[in-house]
Amino acid sequence: MSKKNKVIAVLLSLLLAAAILLSYDYIIEETHHDCSGRECPICMQLEEAVQFLSTIKFVPVVPYIVAVFLVCMKKDRVQKENENRNNTLITLKVELLN
Ligand SMILES: [Zn+2]
Repeated sequence: MSKKNKVIAVLLSLLLAAAILLSYDYIIEETHHDCSGRECPICMQLEEAVQFLSTIKFVPVVPYIVAVFLVCMKKDRVQKENENRNNTLITLKVELLN
């Protein structure tokens, strides 16, 4: 896995963790707000936060992250194998005159 892919994977993981933590924090902070009744914007945002968290629970996040990690590792390995495979005597046009 290249260094760039590692940085991207770490940033995406941190972004996901921050989204989860901030959603829980928002729900805790705004649960007892002064509700204006119907079409309250805070209630709508609470519903969005709850919907996001329930969606995250059902999405198999860990297997998805592992799959992305494995695909990135395999991609690098295949690229290195292809680089080595392309360097044959015929492709390099080496003439054996001995
Ligand atoms: Zn409300």
